[in-house]
Amino acid sequence: MRKFVTAEISRRGLLGGLAFLAGSVLGGRRLFGAAMPDGPTGWNGKITGLGATGDVYKELGLTPVINAQGTETVLGGSLIRPEVTAVMELAAKQFVVIMDLEATVGKRIAELLKLPDGYSAIVTSGAASAIQNGYSGILTGGSAANIAQIPDLTGMKSEVIIQKAHRSAWDHQIRATGVKLVEVETVDDVHNALSERTAAMHFLNLSDPDGQIKRPDWVKLAHAAGVPAFLDMAADVPPKSRLTDYAEMGYDLIAVSGGKAIRGPQCTGLLIGREEMVHNALLNMSPNEDTLGRPTKVGKEEIVGLLKALELYLAEDQEELDKEQWRKLDTVANRVAKIPGVTLTQEVPEIANHFPALQVHLDPSKFSANPHQIAAELAAMKPIISVSEGPGTIEMTAIDLQPGEDRMVADALYGVLKAHSV
Ligand SMILES: *Cc1c(COP(=O)(O)O)cnc(C)c1O
Repeated sequence: MRKFVTAEISRRGLLGGLAFLAGSVLGGRRLFGAAMPDGPTGWNGKITGLGATGDVYKELGLTPVINAQGTETVLGGSLIRPEVTAVMELAAKQFVVIMDLEATVGKRIAELLKLPDGYSAIVTSGAASAIQNGYSGILTGGSAANIAQIPDLTGMKSEVIIQKAHRSAWDHQIRATGVKLVEVETVDDVHNALSERTAAMHFLNLSDPDGQIKRPDWVKLAHAAGVPAFLDMAADVPPKSRLTDYAEMGYDLIAVSGGKAIRGPQCTGLLIGREEMVHNALLNMSPNEDTLGRPTKVGKEEIVGLLKALELYLAEDQEELDKEQWRKLDTVANRVAKIPGVTLTQEVPEIANHFPALQVHLDPSKFSANPHQIAAELAAMKPIISVSEGPGTIEMTAIDLQPGEDRMVADALYGVLKAHSV
């Protein structure tokens, strides 16, 4: 009996082993190809079902958008370059240890950007995620207990100092970590606000002109007090140099969008900063479990995609790009310039979205509709024509206009303005 059992076990073991070998070595390839028709080796390259026509949004019944507004998250950010999607496809074909991928890509990014010594980067799921996870890391440090506890900040620092003029929709991600924002206006206010509770000082780059304390002074104040300075520069490239400038200025953590002018995957961002702080941010986010940032997942395809997008973005000729965008905006300007009541300006924002822009100012006495109504009429067209509006003004950019779309925007705007001319 005993003998039989032993023999039975060993026979099964042997057979099991053989079956395993057959599956992995002998039958592996054939099985992989046959059993996984959607896998990389089994698919014949022809799309059936969703995507078969080549226009996935039309198949879904959505109206296409001509984006004369710019790199807006609500419109899909920007268009990924085909070379980037090709590299993302390569990244999709294998498994990889995500923490190792983040660390390696971070080093590559530091080299590409020529960041100062001791600086690195991670890829996050957007600049908003870079902000939240960056602050989480500042608060928790590398402590596993703190990482599991946050946003309950018992035993941790609990305040972030920010200029009143820098408050915005983007500071929700700071507050998500459980900290309280302490508003200041003057240097004296900063000194009064600093305490043992202060975790960091936050600077919204685009609000630099609005606050009393300017960018370089803010970082100096923070460092004099021994606290880190955080900079949100999500939409502030071009120019490319800014990706390095603010680290050189001493900012400890810097949040950048990957899906705006850099044209990485829409759901990516960069957290640039001091190695240990960037690492602590990573410990607070996906793929790490039981973390506040677990919902801010960024996949291997996106991590590699942003690195590739950055490589291509840095190699781009910015002057050429600007020239091409001005040419497209001229198409629109020339079409509407002679309509009575229209005046045109070409003001480029200094900090955020620093690329060619056209403002079409409308004399209210010459039109039966205001800019808000005109923008709404353009947005009701098929395809949707998406522009920005300000008081008395329709504003547009050409960074996301595809070839030929400048003409379509020009004709549409001309038609709507003419229809409302009085
Ligand atoms: C766009 C933007 C963000 C958010 O960036 P995402 O990459 O969309 O997460 C944060 N701050 C500012 C100033 C922005 O313009």
